[in-house]
Amino acid sequence: MRMTTQRSTGGRHRKITSSQTTKGRIALVAVATGAVSTAGIGGAAAAQIQAQNPEQSTTAATPEIELAANAAEFAASSEAAPQILAIAEYKPVANLADQLTKAVEHNTFRTEIDQALRAPSVAKPAEGAFTSGFGPRWGTLHAGIDIANAVGTPILAVMDGTVIDSGPASGYGQWIRVQHDDGAVSVYGHMETLAVSVGDRVTAGQNIAGMGNRGFSTGSHLHFEIHPNGNGAVDPVPWFAERGITIQ
Ligand SMILES: [Zn+2]
Repeated sequence: MRMTTQRSTGGRHRKITSSQTTKGRIALVAVATGAVSTAGIGGAAAAQIQAQNPEQSTTAATPEIELAANAAEFAASSEAAPQILAIAEYKPVANLADQLTKAVEHNTFRTEIDQALRAPSVAKPAEGAFTSGFGPRWGTLHAGIDIANAVGTPILAVMDGTVIDSGPASGYGQWIRVQHDDGAVSVYGHMETLAVSVGDRVTAGQNIAGMGNRGFSTGSHLHFEIHPNGNGAVDPVPWFAERGITIQ
């Protein structure tokens, strides 16, 4: 739980940083692209030649200064990418095409980091005793798992997502369904209290409800289902195990 919260906070901070720098980068790439377009490919080649001759380099300096200034600022804001410091090495004679290539490479690198930070973080939906597994039960399919604990025990969203149901539901007493960003839907049943509403954005590990004994239930517990493709429950135990969480 604490780990999830910390990661989430850190991820949010980084996303903001990345978003800001992305805008800056788009702007600087636009500047650089404009300069290349104006000069043409021949111009870029000429700039490259000029770059090797410091005496003739002053004419091409203006866009490069702007690019380098942005790049330096960008690099300074990055905590995790010492490799990209190369683009912050402003050289008056450095050629524009090379700097542009490095900016694009840097962009790709930052995108990969951003993707990693957005990778689904998964939380256990409740603490308690594992009282019933997925599979046939009482002549029907028990489409989830049951975790028993006291009324009011926190029920946590298992991943980031959007609440698509929160309220009464037949058999579940009350249920919450969360649509996750990867297409999965998680279902939580029998809760005594509901802390989120339809349309709410939730994060992995967020307290969304209090455990209860409503609906078809013989004691305070959470009934939890996971539908990886949005429709069709699978056994949550191996689903959690694949994500590093032990239920039993
Ligand atoms: Zn159940």
